[in-house]
Amino acid sequence: MRKNIVAGNWKMNNSLNQTKTLIGDLIVELKGVELVNTRVIIAPSFVNLQEAIKGTENNEIEVVAQNMHYAENGAYTGEVSAEMLSSIGIKTVILGHSERRAYFNETDEILTQKVTAALANNLDVIFCFGEQLEDRESENHFNIVEAQLKNVLFELPTNAFKNIILAYEPVWAIGTGKTASADQAQEMHSFIRKTLSEKYNAELAESVSILYGGSVKPNNAEEIFSKPDVDGGLIGGASLKAKDFSAIVKAI
Ligand code: PEP
Repeated sequence: MRKNIVAGNWKMNNSLNQTKTLIGDLIVELKGVELVNTRVIIAPSFVNLQEAIKGTENNEIEVVAQNMHYAENGAYTGEVSAEMLSSIGIKTVILGHSERRAYFNETDEILTQKVTAALANNLDVIFCFGEQLEDRESENHFNIVEAQLKNVLFELPTNAFKNIILAYEPVWAIGTGKTASADQAQEMHSFIRKTLSEKYNAELAESVSILYGGSVKPNNAEEIFSKPDVDGGLIGGASLKAKDFSAIVKAI
């Protein structure tokens, strides 16, 4: 059975002390919450990953990275490799976030290299994708999403999908306070599963967790998560507040 997942993308927020405090607060908020078939994930910045791993020892919060470079090592000033992440105990990396695509020019070609490098280094991938507002307004959103999946993931062998979590994030809903309706999320998630089933097979399509991302908050999480093809969320802004993030976890 595929897992439910609530993942917090902290982006470029939280100093070392703020990281420790937020983790401490989260542990308090989540104490006694029974996580049935559910993973809780946080993605702090690179510099705070080790402290976050230390702070979450002995509980069920997983720490993942927000990004990585595709090269194994070398002259890439300021970058971090998959092996470096593995070496400190990171097991999963977010790739393809719309902010990486928009501000750091991450193309499908670059993301293909990143996904390949992550999997080769035994890192699981949370792969983000989603359409822009104009794509939805021109009713091109299904084509865009299909192309994003096809261009980056569809050369992978079937068994690679054991290590991939999908995160559908319509760009117009990220950090804007606008959210896709639960029905819009379900419609796209069901389309994604159908696309996976056609390219691979039904069993694989049923096994992959598909998260929704885009202004998920405590007041809308339950409705979005109630949809059959929505297996949880990738949460930005609301993941920076322990009470809000834990309320979203409890909504799954
Ligand atoms: C995100 O950045 O992945 C995201 C979903 O952000 P927010 O929840 O703030 O819209």
